[in-house]
Amino acid sequence: MSGDVRAEIRSVLDEIVLPHADRWERERRISPDGWRALAEAGLLSLPHEGPGFALSAVFLDELGNTGYAGVRASIGVHAYMAPAYLRMLGTEVQRAAWLRPDRVAALAITEEHAGTDLSALSTVAGKDGDAYRLTGEKWYVTNGSAADYLVVLARTRAGGTAKVLSGASLFVVDGRSPGITRHRQPTLGWRAADTCRVSFDGVVADGVLGRPDRALMHLMPALDFERLVAGLLAVGGVRHCLGVLRSFLRSHRVRGEALSANQAVRHRVADLDAQYELVRTFADRLVEDHCAGRLDTKAAAVLKLTATELAVTAAQVCVQYHGARGCLEDSVPARLHRDAMAGTIAAGASELMRDLIFESG
Ligand SMILES: Cc1cc2nc3c(=O)[nH]c(=O)nc-3n(C[C@H](O)[C@H](O)[C@H](O)COP(=O)(O)OP(=O)(O)OC[C@H]3O[C@@H](n4cnc5c(N)ncnc54)[C@H](O)[C@@H]3O)c2cc1C
Repeated sequence: MSGDVRAEIRSVLDEIVLPHADRWERERRISPDGWRALAEAGLLSLPHEGPGFALSAVFLDELGNTGYAGVRASIGVHAYMAPAYLRMLGTEVQRAAWLRPDRVAALAITEEHAGTDLSALSTVAGKDGDAYRLTGEKWYVTNGSAADYLVVLARTRAGGTAKVLSGASLFVVDGRSPGITRHRQPTLGWRAADTCRVSFDGVVADGVLGRPDRALMHLMPALDFERLVAGLLAVGGVRHCLGVLRSFLRSHRVRGEALSANQAVRHRVADLDAQYELVRTFADRLVEDHCAGRLDTKAAAVLKLTATELAVTAAQVCVQYHGARGCLEDSVPARLHRDAMAGTIAAGASELMRDLIFESG
């Protein structure tokens, strides 16, 4: 990918995202104007697969490098994680109806008592003639208040469990359907991500995605892709954090010397940088694999785990070396720190990634 493309993406993000991101954090969502500008710039409809995904990878890295993880999560769900289900499983009619950059997307999988363990799923979808009616409540839905459509996981067969690949189905639901209510769930980090609790009271789904009762079979490749996207966003976030850290260490003086003159400080940052280089190189390999249609569960989990955990360590160091100024609520290090914590939980907690890696042998 040429440096020009990267520079171009960065300059568009500098223009469309950075001047507004603090306001979006305060308002806890990307504004309608922001979505429009992103769509018009062509950044919400980049390729999901094939060689073209290399362009998406540059975009995701630069989006992470803006340093606003709430914004990057919101865009990641809208442009990649939720539409992946329609791209993989949707009919032509469903794709034409929903896969449009101006239709904000959300993914409603998790429930209060069903996160890592989806077999505890309690949202149900009952047959009503040819249609399905959904009843239940989803938690932590990114883009929850803005979503024009939601991809929803619900139980369709009593007795079966999602764990044994039966009894659950995926649906696409029109956000304007009667029976949907949305409540904000303000989060510690990812403040611009528009996190909501979304209730469904007899909501008629627009349609089933893929085979009824076989949701987990469909979820597995989609979750691998989700973790690739989450990992690439986190890698860009680590790069941003290290940049913030280096520039502070060079300018901040303690006992008459720049902090960067202290060898212990330099070595701490060098260790982080070395880990960043390893993770970034692994991410590049994974992008090549995905472009060639070879993304596997273990590799996606390794990237998601290592990138998001490194982001936490880097953010802790960033706060530490900023001293009290890094503890101020509206400081950049404070935001990086609270954002990094959400990254190790959303799209599958680190412990689940470790389980997947161990089980893959
Ligand atoms: C900011 C944010 C945005 C999100 N956006 C969405 C969204 O758009 N759509 C959506 O459907 N979901 C979303 N989620 C939910 C996310 O997918 C879940 O939080 C995640 O799957 C973990 O589920 P849980 O929070 O219920 O934790 P639980 O499953 O209850 O686990 C709690 C904790 O236990 C530990 N743990 C879990 N399993 C193991 C294990 N095997 N061994 C040891 N320890 C373990 C982990 O530390 C974990 O964090 C979001 C979450 C966050 C934080």
